Amino acid sequence: MKVVKTSKELDLILSPLRSSAKKIGFVPTMGALHEGHISLLKKAILENDVVICSVFVNPTQFNDPKDLEKYPRPIEKDIELLESAGCHYLFLPDVNDIYADGETWEHSFGKLEQIWEGAMRPGHFKGVGQVVYKLFNIVKPTNAYFGQKDFQQTLIIKKLIADFKLAINLHICPIIREESGLAMSSRNGRLNAIERQSAGNIYKALENTRLSISKGSKDLSELKNQALTILNTISDIKIEYVDIVNPDKLEIIENIDENSPLLMIIAVRLGNTRLIDNMYIRA
Ligand code: AMP
Repeated sequence: MKVVKTSKELDLILSPLRSSAKKIGFVPTMGALHEGHISLLKKAILENDVVICSVFVNPTQFNDPKDLEKYPRPIEKDIELLESAGCHYLFLPDVNDIYADGETWEHSFGKLEQIWEGAMRPGHFKGVGQVVYKLFNIVKPTNAYFGQKDFQQTLIIKKLIADFKLAINLHICPIIREESGLAMSSRNGRLNAIERQSAGNIYKALENTRLSISKGSKDLSELKNQALTILNTISDIKIEYVDIVNPDKLEIIENIDENSPLLMIIAVRLGNTRLIDNMYIRA
């Protein structure tokens, strides 16, 4: 695997590949890689001629400077993981390569950037849109791979591609989980062993709702209460939101009568660690 540190160098490498119509797969990440990231990479390797993974901790998507400062950056370990997974290029730019001084981003994703994660982390999705737009322009991938783990982010990227009419195929990959059921995340390393084990109940709350619906339950407040009961078995949990929404707009569902798909979304805090998760509770 070649490590490429500037967008200029990456363009020199990719230009001839583009001219010869090679399929370019792209997996953008913020590093501290785990099996979730690697699952995206493996799919990209299967479906493309050449695969680029980026590791860039994007400052503009952090609304909390402490979170940015504490974000894990184990780059040597990341390089080993990428190499053994068969990645072709790691794009590892620094902030000055991506952003000009004081650069801003004005594109609006409308309501989608203000609800749920957007409400809890003001400005977050503007930062995500800004960096992914930049990275897409540098890499110009044929296929881009994102995780369902960050469900709202996938809708933002879908809208980014539509709004700017980008010729990029978006692939959404399933959530990879730890043995306890906890969705893998670069932030899980901040949990202590007890927190990490008990955080598996987030998955249990989702799975319980999915099962109840499959058995015919239609009582939204009862479903939500059951999920809350399971979550509240986790000590010191602070629940930010638990809701059942439609997967295309993330609007709260008023009733469960139709056959339309349903998504449950959860955000909690365990000590200083924020965790998000989701599941199609009816596909
Ligand atoms: P991040 O490094 O957190 O920005 O994540 C980079 C990409 O990996 C995003 O598209 C995430 O949705 C995806 N991802 C993160 N965690 C998981 C997971 N547990 N399973 C699948 N994809 C994931």
